[in-house]
Amino acid sequence: MIFKLLIDGRSVAGDASAPVINPATEQVLAECPRASEAQLNQAVAAAKAAFPGWAATPIDERRGILKATADRIDAHADELARLLTKEQGKPIGSAKHELRFLAHALRTHAGYELPFEVMKNGAGHRIEVRRKPLGVAALILPWNYPMALLGFKLPFALLAGNTVVTKPAPTTPLTTLRLGELIADLLPAGVLNVIADANDLGDALVRHPDVHKVAFTGSAVTGRKVMANASATLKRFSLELGGNDAAIVLEDADPKAVAPKVFASAFGNSGQVCIAIKRLYVHDVIYDAMCTELATLADAAIVGDGSEQGTTHGPLQNKAQFNKVLEILDDARKHGTVIAGGTIPDRPGYFLRPTIVRDIAEGTRLVDEEQFGPVLPVIRFSSNEDALARANNSPYGLGGSVWSANVERARALAERMDAGTVGINQHAGIDADVPLAGAKQSGIGTELGQDGLLEFTQLKVLASPSPQKPDPA
Ligand code: NAD
Repeated sequence: MIFKLLIDGRSVAGDASAPVINPATEQVLAECPRASEAQLNQAVAAAKAAFPGWAATPIDERRGILKATADRIDAHADELARLLTKEQGKPIGSAKHELRFLAHALRTHAGYELPFEVMKNGAGHRIEVRRKPLGVAALILPWNYPMALLGFKLPFALLAGNTVVTKPAPTTPLTTLRLGELIADLLPAGVLNVIADANDLGDALVRHPDVHKVAFTGSAVTGRKVMANASATLKRFSLELGGNDAAIVLEDADPKAVAPKVFASAFGNSGQVCIAIKRLYVHDVIYDAMCTELATLADAAIVGDGSEQGTTHGPLQNKAQFNKVLEILDDARKHGTVIAGGTIPDRPGYFLRPTIVRDIAEGTRLVDEEQFGPVLPVIRFSSNEDALARANNSPYGLGGSVWSANVERARALAERMDAGTVGINQHAGIDADVPLAGAKQSGIGTELGQDGLLEFTQLKVLASPSPQKPDPA
């Protein structure tokens, strides 16, 4: 299949190209067009030219286009999911789930209203507060959830009346490019532009004076660059960054009941989830039992090519991440005990079996850094207050959770956990209408929910002398 960029409503070849690797085989999956800076500028110019028309399009028409886009995705979900699995690595069922989420977000967000409030209407004054689109929005995405995370940004960007230049990650660009091709005819030319790069256009895109909003998801390291680059033109930005989520399992929790849920929240997408459990604190009383349950689950995982039936866990998405996780694991072996996994299957691909490391603590890379891979440290504690302090002692604050047979007891600790989303007997709670906002260095701004929509708008006050008499009441 030939992949093309989408610029100004046309499918165009990239000025350069580079291969995309299937992480399950290490073979070249396809050649991907890579935009030059000139093509990036063309995409931004097209989005800028399309903006006045799109912003003036009645919102109900924009809603209709979002719903038609969701229908088009549904109609091509199998093809897109197969491609997503090949470039990203995840099991085909998870890829289908991602596409369903994108369509669901488009439909859900199509129903949102842009706030409009008459704050004052009397005493000689009328004050209206409205929300206007910002202009050209750059959507910059990472490689772990190329479709679902597009669903965090694209529907609101378009519903609010912004035009878009989106840039997927260089190791997972193909599904987004194919999606752009499939939905191009639903949108006026220039409203949606899709470019791909070789990890070299982020600075230029963020610094571009005609880009008015940057919605970025990725690492904290890159997020800092986005923030610095956005400052040149003081543009709006939102950052959804990394995390090092702690889960605290209290002594009254039942290891047999809790372990499968914790395992799923730590090892989904082979640990490459921003809001995965990345540090597991377990009370001394149930520590051994919990370790045993987790090791059993890890041993039962079916690790393989996501395209193969039965695979529960795919590879790491790219070689750089694979090497980083292996380095973190090597360091962990010096400070803790691997009780499951830790092995690399004898086949091509960036595979690492789900790995449980016990008797490890802070001061090691596995506990202190975001591993973003299938290696979970299980850390012992004996006082709930101590566990809470250690969980909160992180520069990150994306998610967290507390697990207990006593919900009120768990809630009391959860309320004091320093993170944007804290679960009680669950981890995370992502849905299209639930806001997601990282605390501390996990992000700035909000995605999803009503607050997520507002991030793509500018507040505007219309003030006028009131034609009406003050309300006698
Ligand atoms: P990354 O920061 O390396 O790359 C993300 C995107 O930024 C890519 O498209 C990349 O090409 C682009 N980029 C690179 N340099 C840039 C620059 N100077 N300016 C602008 N964009 C630039 O992240 P990654 O390795 O692809 O993704 C993994 C990270 O993403 C993890 O830290 C994970 O926790 C985080 N993440 C966060 C969320 C969330 O919602 N908080 C969701 C998913 C992933």
